[in-house]
Amino acid sequence: RKRQRLDKILSNMGYGTRKEIKKLIKAGYVTVNGEWADDPGMHVDPDNDVIEVDGERVIYRRYIYLMMNKPQGVLSATEDRESAVVVDLLHPEHAFFEPFPVGRLDKDTEGLLLLTNDGKLAHRLLSPKKHVPKTYYAEVEGAVTDADVKAFARGVTLDDGYRTLPAELKVLQSGPKSEVELTIYEGKYHQVKRMFQAVGKRVTYLKRIAMGPLPLDPSLDPGEYRELTEEEVAALK
Ligand code: URA
Repeated sequence: RKRQRLDKILSNMGYGTRKEIKKLIKAGYVTVNGEWADDPGMHVDPDNDVIEVDGERVIYRRYIYLMMNKPQGVLSATEDRESAVVVDLLHPEHAFFEPFPVGRLDKDTEGLLLLTNDGKLAHRLLSPKKHVPKTYYAEVEGAVTDADVKAFARGVTLDDGYRTLPAELKVLQSGPKSEVELTIYEGKYHQVKRMFQAVGKRVTYLKRIAMGPLPLDPSLDPGEYRELTEEEVAALK
């Protein structure tokens, strides 16, 4: 993580507003590496410099873990030339930690997206060897049948010849427009859409409703997010 303004670090750590922190600094309460800090705008390395307020070490939180209900029309990326990206939706106090999305959802897919700056955790969750389950709610054009359920349970062959791992398909409603829940244990590009394509059907709406042990918090509207609780972070590890 890059060097940051001292007042910004302290406000992110909950020591008050920038204005209050300026007063704190001017009043001589703050030291950096044992030296009195008199400039709120001084740049400090939050991971290595020792910051103290009134003699108490500021314990700098390293990691942040967020659950977002990704809206349609936003890319799961940290930057893009043309499109809005999910990190644009973060408040400054969370963006400060420079989190990135754990994996990808298509631009037109909604639902549970984790964001973190914990690279190790992200790597584990995305590792093809870990088979972390991901559950989707989908609306599908055409009647989804028991034959599809069996085909998904065996594995289907995608357009590029890849054969999918066994997946659990639950039909909530079958008709001209079907509603299903699908749990997959891998994450190929456009996997859910391509699995339905493999059985001659088209996904018209897709929403991720769970990842690993975490269901999407139903209180989050599209575009909203919250921090994970300690228990939720522990469950992911
Ligand atoms: N499968 C897809 O086809 N799209 C997604 O966004 C996620 C899984």
